Order: sequence, then structure tokens, then C-alpha cells
Amino acid sequence: ANKIIIVGGVAGGANVAAQIRRNDKKSDITLFDKGEHVAFSTCGMPYYIGGVVENRDHLLVSSDKIADKFGINLQTNTEVTSIDPENQKITYQDSSGEHQTFYDKLILSPGASAKKPEFEGMNDKRTFTLHDIPDMDAIEHYIKTKKPQTCAIVGAGFIGLEMVENLHARGIDCTIIDRNKQVMKLVDEDQASMIEEHLKAKNVHLLLENGLKSFSNNGATLNLTDGESVQADMTIMAVGIKPNTKVAEDSGLAIGETGAIKVNDYMQTSDPDIYALGDAVQTNDLLTGAPRHVALAGPAHRQAFILVNHLQGGNAPYAGIQGTAIFKVFDLSAGATGLNKAELNHLGINYKEVDHQTLSHAGYYPGAEKISLKVLFDAENGRMYGAQAVGREGIDKRLAIMATAMKANMTVFDLPELELGYAPPYSSPKDPINVLGYKAESMLES
Ligand code: FAD
Repeated sequence: ANKIIIVGGVAGGANVAAQIRRNDKKSDITLFDKGEHVAFSTCGMPYYIGGVVENRDHLLVSSDKIADKFGINLQTNTEVTSIDPENQKITYQDSSGEHQTFYDKLILSPGASAKKPEFEGMNDKRTFTLHDIPDMDAIEHYIKTKKPQTCAIVGAGFIGLEMVENLHARGIDCTIIDRNKQVMKLVDEDQASMIEEHLKAKNVHLLLENGLKSFSNNGATLNLTDGESVQADMTIMAVGIKPNTKVAEDSGLAIGETGAIKVNDYMQTSDPDIYALGDAVQTNDLLTGAPRHVALAGPAHRQAFILVNHLQGGNAPYAGIQGTAIFKVFDLSAGATGLNKAELNHLGINYKEVDHQTLSHAGYYPGAEKISLKVLFDAENGRMYGAQAVGREGIDKRLAIMATAMKANMTVFDLPELELGYAPPYSSPKDPINVLGYKAESMLES
């Protein structure tokens, strides 16, 4: 039997442990995590802060239960500090000191860390990031004990926007600050403007094209690049993440051009006995093959399957990353799959775009709401590179259809042919996806 060591026990690592045990009861598996909690529901944390998820325990699985269920040696509060690939040995640090152990196969799922740049005058007692359970607990504790009335959120990506909604639900007046000219870089400017209007309608203060420069007044005043300032009882920094690559890099493993760990189609790093997955790795874009770093839970789960399949003798390759993401901002849902305009421009791809604003279902049936869809496609052959959807209803459905169509290598010419199911509460006889296809094909035929 093998000795398998896994570093990191949340989305990627915990899944790998569970998958290995399905077919392999014998290998000796040790899982190290530097934190106290493993296999927790990262994505649920904003909703616990907002009170939607009422019970903290629902986000957690007890460590004993996991160790027992999968028959693994689980070592929490233990940080792996270095790897010696030549001698197949790692060094780790726990409360009793530094130790070393050997492995036959090593699996790295160390995730990413929230960026928290140092700003002059920043007060750590009232400035938070949200990446793990201690972060969540610190925010919750601050809200309970200090009863903040105002919060500044720096960064209008999906964590920033989810936090706005959930802090607003706690009665906190929110200001969101981003140096870009739009919220949510995942979608193009036209789609983002719907989100921006909605935030304003919910009385969220939105400051775009404006960056944080420094703090003053014991961290309660944020001084911005345009000279304005914002008063805030607390600040959430949601300015992005950085893949945790240090241990891999120091041991000589190859790092890709995106700054994340390089892996092949079977999730092996440059050392075939060391695998890696999740937020720490770079994979290739499904459609263009270009290197891409995407930090999402779905791909981490798929990569766990690919990795374990290979570890156990299979050879199913990872098909590539599509980057399909969806998120909720108050009453709106917004999603994107594939590449957006900025990414396509960066890659120099010759594309066309078409959008379609319509109602989510038959207008005479109550509850129809505006939805906005768009597709980005090859200017020559109609192959689809990306799609986006924003609205109140039916967004997850349209996004999933577009993601599936793209995975199946369909072109915009296929969209009018899709029979998607119609009754007045759900759609129109021509589904908005069909119309998007008609519009796109007319652009290519003309
Ligand atoms: P993680 O789940 O971050 O796990 C990494 C673990 O490794 C950590 O526990 C860390 O302590 C440990 N570790 C790191 N280095 C070491 C070391 N040297 N030694 C020991 N242990 C180490 N994705 C979605 O698809 N949908 C969502 O709605 C969504 N919402 C999110 C909301 C929030 C607030 C956050 C922060 C993320 C969200 N994500 C979402 C992203 C998703 O959580 C990640 O993509 C996913 O958790 C990545 O899994 P991972 O195993 O790579 O890393």
C-alpha cells in the first residue's frame, strides 16, 4: 500500500481523500491542514453573516467524523512548511514542533489567500477579509459586539458583492469602492451596469474608478484616490486572492504564467509523484487552450475526480476550465461562462457580440422580469467563446444552457434549434436563448 499525503483539507483536499477511499481501503492517507477546520462550506460563509444560514454548524463537518468516515489520519492546526521531492519527504509544523515524514504520493490543495495589502493607517481590528472560518467568526463577533452602522467594502468582485447584500441584511449601511469603472469584472460593462443600478436601488453607495489610498482616524476614515473620503465603522477588503504557491515554488515545482502551480491534464505537477488541484493551480481554458487561473468550487471537485482516477491507474484527462460562475446580488442573479470581452481582447481573438434584453417568461403571466443575455462568438464560424446573463429570474437556467452548449462545441447556429420547453410561467415559445441565436446568426450571414 501507498503512503499518500494531502496538504489542505477543504474543497480540493477533502474531496480527494473521500474519492481515494472509494476504491482503495488500504493506502495510508494523512491529511494536513494548517487551520482548525476542514471540509467546511466556504461558499456559505457570506450567508451565515447575513443570517440566511442560521446555524454555524451547518457550514462545518466535525474533524473526527471525517477522519473516521474515510479512515484517514487527520492533522489539523498543522502546516506543511517544505517539500523535499528528491527524498519524497515533507516537513510540517504543529504545536509540538517541527517534524518530517515520507510520502509515496503527495497531493497539494493549499488553496488561495485573500489579498490584504497594507495601507497606511489601517486598523486590523476593524478591517477584515473573508476566506476561512476564523475570518467569518471575526466579522460576526465584530458585528455583534461593536454594532457597526456603516461598512466600506473595497473590491466589487463576487465576495465584495455577496458581502454587501449580507451586511445590508444586518442593517449596516454599505459603501462599495472599486478602482475599475464597473462592478464585477467577470461580466462586460453593459451587463455590469444592471447590477450597478440594482445596488443603487437598494441604497448601496457605489464609488467606481476610485481606489483606497490610505486610512486615517484610527482606521475609520478611508481616503480615496480622488480626494474624497468615506467614514466606515468597519471595512471588508475583497480585493482578490493569491494562489498559495510558496511551498511548491520553494521545492522547485514549476509555476505557470498565471502565477499558479503548473499541472498537466492529470493534475500532476512537474514532479510526477506530486499532484495539485483547486485554487492553487493553473489549468487550460476549455475553448482556447490558453493558461487560466480560476478559483471556483466546481472545478476543484472535478479536478479531485481526475486526480484520483489517475492516481488509481486511470487516464481520463481534465477537459479544461470553462469558468462558469453565478452569484446573487440582492434580487438579481448574474452569471458568466467562458471568456468575456476583456479576456478575448487580451487573447487577440476575432469575435462578435450580441445581446438580448427581454422578459424571463410570457409577459402576460404574472412575475415576468427583465433579463439580459449576451453571447460572444467567433466572427468567422460562430463558435461560442463566452456568455453572460443578468436578471431576477431564469438566469441560472440560461447560464447552464449556454455553458452546456459551449462544452458541446455548438455554434450560435445551434441556439435557435434548441427546444427548451415552454409554458407561460417559464419562458416564451421562442426562448430568449433561441432569439439570441437568431440575432447572432443574422450577424454572420449578413
Ligand atoms: P481551499 O478550500 O481554500 O482549501 C485550502 C486549505 O489548505 C485551507 O484550509 C488552508 O488552511 C490549507 N493550507 C494551505 N496551505 C497549507 C499548508 N502549507 N499546510 C497545511 N495546510 C495548508 N466558489 C464557487 O464556485 N461558488 C461560490 O459561491 C463561492 N463562494 C465563495 C465565497 C467565499 C467567501 C470564498 C472565500 C470562496 C468562495 N468560492 C466559491 C471559492 C471556493 O471556495 C474555492 O474555489 C474552493 O474552496 C477551492 O478549494 P481548494 O481546495 O483549492 O482551497
